[in-house]
Amino acid sequence: MTMQRVVIVGAGIAGLSAAEALSRVAPWLSITLLESKRVPGGRAGSFHDRDQTDPVDYCQHVAMGCCTNFIDMIRQTGLQDQFRCDSELTFLYPDQPPSRFVASRWLPPPLHLLASLDAQRYLTAAEKRQIKRGLWNLMRTSTSSLNDCVAADWLDRYGQSSGCRKKFWDVILVSALGEKTEHVSMAAARKVLIDGFAAARGASDVWIPISPLATVFGRRMQQCLVDRGVDVRCGRPVRQITADATVILADDGPETDDVISADHVICAVPWHQLHKLFDRWPAAERKRLPDLESIANIPSSPISGLHLWFDRPITDLPHAVMVGTTVQWVFRRPHDAGREYDSHYIQCVISAAADLTRFSKQQLVDHVIAELRHAFPRAREALLKQHRVVTDPNSVFSIGPDVDAIRPPTQTAFDWLTLAGDWTQTQWPATMEGAVISGRRAAEHILESCQDQHPANAATNAPVVCPGLPRGRLARLLIRT
Ligand SMILES: Cc1cc2nc3c(=O)[nH]c(=O)nc-3n(C[C@H](O)[C@H](O)[C@H](O)COP(=O)(O)OP(=O)(O)OC[C@H]3O[C@@H](n4cnc5c(N)ncnc54)[C@H](O)[C@@H]3O)c2cc1C
Repeated sequence: MTMQRVVIVGAGIAGLSAAEALSRVAPWLSITLLESKRVPGGRAGSFHDRDQTDPVDYCQHVAMGCCTNFIDMIRQTGLQDQFRCDSELTFLYPDQPPSRFVASRWLPPPLHLLASLDAQRYLTAAEKRQIKRGLWNLMRTSTSSLNDCVAADWLDRYGQSSGCRKKFWDVILVSALGEKTEHVSMAAARKVLIDGFAAARGASDVWIPISPLATVFGRRMQQCLVDRGVDVRCGRPVRQITADATVILADDGPETDDVISADHVICAVPWHQLHKLFDRWPAAERKRLPDLESIANIPSSPISGLHLWFDRPITDLPHAVMVGTTVQWVFRRPHDAGREYDSHYIQCVISAAADLTRFSKQQLVDHVIAELRHAFPRAREALLKQHRVVTDPNSVFSIGPDVDAIRPPTQTAFDWLTLAGDWTQTQWPATMEGAVISGRRAAEHILESCQDQHPANAATNAPVVCPGLPRGRLARLLIRT
């Protein structure tokens, strides 16, 4: 019996997820994980700032309680100690007292959110009624009937005023989907509102890393995989994957084995970089691949992270959702672990940031500081010691109504080649959960295809992808599937 060799290209969350699942379920496989950057994690990563001791995340990442596969991957790799789970959110609207959002412990889903909606002090009574009607209609509409519909059009059709849009729907959807409601599909919006909030208890809990992402994924998760025998090679960009399952590395790497023959290849690079790996394929073989050109042209949406170091604390809140401002989320230093700092770190997140290009970085920082001073009185006295603005133009793919038809499934026409990445067909928007599911689906496909080749495989060939949170009776009755 020969050892099957799996090569995973790309060590973002999708590639890490595939390596985690395979190394746990099928330890007899030889697994090589190739990453072009120096550290695994991909978009969920950090950079080194010369003025800071700890790595700084490109942008704050949070998961929600409904992200069952992401949370399972964290548990399987023993990384629970790297996350905090908060069930309470604070919404801040200019000139209004803070509004708490916390789901009821005793009302069954989806009713468990009603009291929280009523507690949002910046919404008028008429707006609350309108939003509840909208949510009811959304629960009673199946996802499949929303695939072709733009979220903003649906909200118009169901009588949501511009006030309700700005103060409620856009606040949740723009943050969760990384794109404006004028561009996203209503099916994706429904996924966020129903699966992420209404359908199950705990779905809206927020999981926040308490260490830099470079520590969580780049160091700790990498170490876990290495301990399980995965050969993780960073700083090793792949140049080509050939039609006979050979992975060719760029020849500027430090090692000599620049060509790896594989039994299985999981390609887990971002959608806009995929085509480059196959551009030397003969035309006849290339035709059997998914439509690489359409995939490369899936539009992107930028997210900006503003990193601000003040001379004093500006708030005691760990995080806050900002409503009616350019800033959408504020996070206080997520990884302070009780240490004393001479500066106080705040990160502001702005999703769907394409419009921000009209500002210079300095103008943007000034604008954001003015918003913070308005929201947090202590910020008025605080001195900004340092700032960084980080915008990734390809932060997420823009999940418009046409995009789902382009997203390819994991499996390709070639049994040895599978695709993974948040952009594949996962029924999730661009999220860490989508990326984990895609990696686990790729792992499942490989396990299936080598089922006969290892006696232990049949016994462990259970599904790797976890189901979503279980829905209670009332939720099953009220929410259409
Ligand atoms: C600013 C920002 C904020 C976000 N906030 C959140 C959030 O709060 N919650 C959430 O769930 N999601 C969030 N996301 C989305 C989340 O980061 C992504 O959905 C997820 O990380 C995608 O993982 P991936 O593995 O599919 O892709 P990637 O992270 O893009 O990983 C692909 C990997 O492939 C590598 N690669 C590319 N080409 C090659 C090659 N030729 N050879 C070898 N390696 C290669 C890349 O270096 C990269 O490491 C955010 C994203 C950004 C950018």
